Amino acid sequence: MNAHNPSGWRPAMPLDAPPGQHAATSSGDRGLMLEEPLIFELGQPGTCGVDLDEPEMAVLPGLARYLRSAEADLPGLSEPEAVRHYTRLSRQNYGIDLGPFPLGSCTMKHNPRLNEKVARLAGFADVHPLQPVETVQGALGVIVQLADWLTALTGMDAVAMTPKAGAHGELCGLLCIRAALEARGDAREVILVPESAHGTNPATAAFAGYRVESIPATIAGRVDLGALEARLGPDVAGVMITNPNTCGLFEPNMKRIADAVHAAGGFVYCDGANFNAIVGKVRPGDLGIDAMHINLHKTFSTPHGGGGPGAGPVVLSAALAPFAPLPYALRQSDGALRLIEEDTAPADHPQGLGRMTAFHGQMGMFTRALSYILSHGADGLRRVAEDAVLNANYVLRSLEDVLTAPFGASGPCMHEALFSDEGLPEGFTTLDLAKGLIDEGFHPMTVYFPLVVHGAMLIEPTETESKSGLDRFIASLRHVAERAKAGDPALKSAPHFAPRRRLDETQAARRPVLVWEGWT
Ligand SMILES: *Cc1c(COP(=O)(O)O)cnc(C)c1O
Repeated sequence: MNAHNPSGWRPAMPLDAPPGQHAATSSGDRGLMLEEPLIFELGQPGTCGVDLDEPEMAVLPGLARYLRSAEADLPGLSEPEAVRHYTRLSRQNYGIDLGPFPLGSCTMKHNPRLNEKVARLAGFADVHPLQPVETVQGALGVIVQLADWLTALTGMDAVAMTPKAGAHGELCGLLCIRAALEARGDAREVILVPESAHGTNPATAAFAGYRVESIPATIAGRVDLGALEARLGPDVAGVMITNPNTCGLFEPNMKRIADAVHAAGGFVYCDGANFNAIVGKVRPGDLGIDAMHINLHKTFSTPHGGGGPGAGPVVLSAALAPFAPLPYALRQSDGALRLIEEDTAPADHPQGLGRMTAFHGQMGMFTRALSYILSHGADGLRRVAEDAVLNANYVLRSLEDVLTAPFGASGPCMHEALFSDEGLPEGFTTLDLAKGLIDEGFHPMTVYFPLVVHGAMLIEPTETESKSGLDRFIASLRHVAERAKAGDPALKSAPHFAPRRRLDETQAARRPVLVWEGWT
């Protein structure tokens, strides 16, 4: 305890750091790397950032019991103390604006600042969803123009713009499939999900009331076509296939799969969250897909991952388009835009699902995505896919001599490179490499997913990393892998240089401490 540290909170990092490397300081801060206690350890009860008059309370008789009987247990900070607390904490954060964020399947890429500028234009940012349609023609125009781009890029008939995330889009697609089947009096119970699918797929199918059956992956990391075809039958409502799949591989048999599923009376859902690997190269509509969500917050570069809402529009085939949810905007022959909602739907869209969201979807994501699309153009979007795939293959081929690439022999990968823990010496794990990368100043890759690979490491560099940035990342991961191969015991307790040392992951997940002890 000292004057700077009245409550005795313990800085976790420097005190047990190796001697000579990071001598302890009296404050716990190191240079300008600042330690920060909990807000409840900082505050003084009664301190407040603002002075408010005592409220004049005219309490209605029945409501008196809802009034507080004791003071609220608030931390009590002045405004500068509150500002510093959160700013200090924010400096311990890692984000895409600080460095690479190589999480597989997540497409953490740079979000151009132009998109932000466009989204903040008052005409977009300040509109209200209940404004009269005549006063928001421009905003509706953005939605329709973006919808046109999405159907053109995917070669599909229609798009439902309202779903608010990838998984929400999956639900929309499955509800359309269910509605289409019910419309022909053919209720079916089973959705087939290959092992190489994203984890949200089986979860969505179960949520939509389907029984989920798994289809194995081949040793080459792709859907086992024979097993899939053998399972098709009159109880199968559809299949959900992630393409490119979670092994980072393109499913080349998509058309054949779609033909077989259609012949058996089912529908094909494609998880298109990773459309960034194929945009401008492949049109899912040409592959026989009936429904596919697109993650605007991945492919079309809108902030995500704690940084903002997502948007998961779903493109639909002609067979599913009649069942798309309300509301949607339609361009009339005179050029004006009108909304198809409950009052007009009986005439215009009689088989529609109803609403999945209160209003039109994520306007801020739509403006950002359209800004991204228009600034790249069709040729630029194709380059996005080419560069995303090139970067991932550069990572794959640069590291396969120190890490095992289980599908390295299956040909080039798509937008992400997959490694396993095979070949790491006894006692060293994927987790050790991930923690070692933190010491090197990098956010770790996705670990232990997909499940089809033991100790998986899934790296999606995205197209926005430069070659020199990739070289730094590759050198760091190589260094960490070599430390593991040399049996360096210090790697087992990494990270050493982060604000916090290694957590007990099991305890942290199973017994999180969510209540400050001072409250009890
Ligand atoms: C990100 C992702 C999802 C889920 O998207 P959310 O917006 O997080 O709901 C689904 N499938 C794949 C392949 C993904 O990468």
